[in-house]
Amino acid sequence: MSEIAKKTQVVIVGGGPAGSLLALLLHLQGVESVVIELRSRDHVLGRVRAGVIEYGSGATLREAGLAGRMDREGFVHDGVNLAFNDQLLHIDFKRLTGKHVIIYGQTQLQRDLYDAIDTAGITLVDEAEGVDLHDVDGGSPRVTFVHDGIEREISCDYIAGCDGVHSATRDHIPDSVRQRFERLYPFVWVGLLSETPPVRDELIYANHPDGFALCSMRNENLSRYYVQGSAEDTTDDWPDDRFWETLKARLPRAVSDRLVTGPSVEKLVTPLRSWVSEPLRHGRLFLAGDAAHIVPPTGAKGLNLAISDVVYLADALAGFYATGHETGLEEYSDRALSRVWKAVRFSWWMTSTMHRFPGMSNDFDRRLQKTELEYLFSSENGQRSMAENYVGLPL
Ligand SMILES: Cc1cc2nc3c(=O)[nH]c(=O)nc-3n(C[C@H](O)[C@H](O)[C@H](O)COP(=O)(O)OP(=O)(O)OC[C@H]3O[C@@H](n4cnc5c(N)ncnc54)[C@H](O)[C@@H]3O)c2cc1C
Repeated sequence: MSEIAKKTQVVIVGGGPAGSLLALLLHLQGVESVVIELRSRDHVLGRVRAGVIEYGSGATLREAGLAGRMDREGFVHDGVNLAFNDQLLHIDFKRLTGKHVIIYGQTQLQRDLYDAIDTAGITLVDEAEGVDLHDVDGGSPRVTFVHDGIEREISCDYIAGCDGVHSATRDHIPDSVRQRFERLYPFVWVGLLSETPPVRDELIYANHPDGFALCSMRNENLSRYYVQGSAEDTTDDWPDDRFWETLKARLPRAVSDRLVTGPSVEKLVTPLRSWVSEPLRHGRLFLAGDAAHIVPPTGAKGLNLAISDVVYLADALAGFYATGHETGLEEYSDRALSRVWKAVRFSWWMTSTMHRFPGMSNDFDRRLQKTELEYLFSSENGQRSMAENYVGLPL
């Protein structure tokens, strides 16, 4: 890492996908930044998370020169499958929208971003403790932190809060201006990673009377499966045998007959929630990515929203430095939130349509869910709407 500057144009707090991509997009447009990350590089590069890259996110990464490995090693998926009533419906993205998604792990993308940051000579300070913001709504914003036991201060024009779900930067937006919107879902996903070939070459989302299941993959010999569990479940409640039996029972027979099982190499429990904090700007501070919003993983949107936020923010900041006008910065929050809410809606819809909610037996909600799926299975327009949202709305 090069010497830490005492002054820069933009300080970016958080070196996850949002923060590191923002630094690179700014660099490409001639704007200087310093990235301050709490964790070690190994920790950030070791996190296993999202894996579906929307069509537009792929194009963004390509335009920024970041897609070499993704285009070589990622898997282009022209559709996904929905399973219901022992039937499988192929949602054909290519035919319905002319677009696709790319299966490429967030872990690999994070490595590509860090490699590009190093090549570009952008300062990324890792293991920075006690990060704090000052004069966020005044004329001399600063960020202080401790690195290698030394107290540091960087003054800047703007601060980007890209510090994820437990964001500390978000707390600098006063309660009097912040609005929070939240929906908690009364179940979890239990996920299992196994070194086995995927059961199918594209993802399968299954609605079964006993609960949801998802068949996903990382590569030809690494499969990621999920089943819906109860809200209070832990990984101890899901030994491998129980997981595989449950998964098999929730898939159409023609699929479960082909399922190759094996020992888990990783198991996790993920709670599901939708959550948005508004606005995304306060004074000189801008929020982007998980610091501002969380969606349940059902629609595969979390990482993609982090990407679209920072595309808008980089444009707005570069516009300011090119023209001296703040118009783009003033519009950032509304522009980003408009796309965020569409992804919140789609993720909520996928979650509501595909899961069994406690108390749902033969009641009104179950009938509605059944009707929603029957409509999708029979209507090309319904399928096109799902495909349009899944591949990603335009940026
Ligand atoms: C277990 C898990 C599974 C997921 N699965 C999916 C999925 O299947 N599909 C999907 O689309 N999305 C998924 N997501 C969501 C997706 O990973 C996130 O939306 C994405 O990482 C958002 O990027 P980000 O940069 O905004 O936040 P993060 O990736 O969280 O990055 C924030 C960074 O800020 C750093 N930081 C935090 N606090 C501070 C501080 N005080 N000072 C400095 N740095 C700080 C953190 O260490 C981190 O590196 C998953 C998330 C998790 C946790």
